[in-house]
Amino acid sequence: MTTPRDTGRNPTIREWAEADRMNHVPPSVDRLHPSAIPADQARLAHINTYGLLPEFYVDRAFTCRRCGKREIWRAVDQKWYYEEAKGHIDAKAVECHECRASKKTGEGGGA
Ligand SMILES: [Zn+2]
Repeated sequence: MTTPRDTGRNPTIREWAEADRMNHVPPSVDRLHPSAIPADQARLAHINTYGLLPEFYVDRAFTCRRCGKREIWRAVDQKWYYEEAKGHIDAKAVECHECRASKKTGEGGGA
């Protein structure tokens, strides 16, 4: 049941650069991007923001703040995070998969 999915863990340099470029374009451009996934605004009702809710998710590049690894936060994962896990809209991916995994096992429980 575990079909391998590209989680953005090991992007190519070009792929990362493209995702990074999307960090710097206005949201109105998002919908035109191949990675764009429409947001379900009804599922974002938990979010209180003075800003606009996203209309589309696109792949976003980020650099891990702990180890400096470059990864991509996939549009599908953002959708899951905001709409299913009810994450806050200002929360962004800041740590790579490995650092998050090691935090879970290492620093353990709590919140
Ligand atoms: Zn890391």
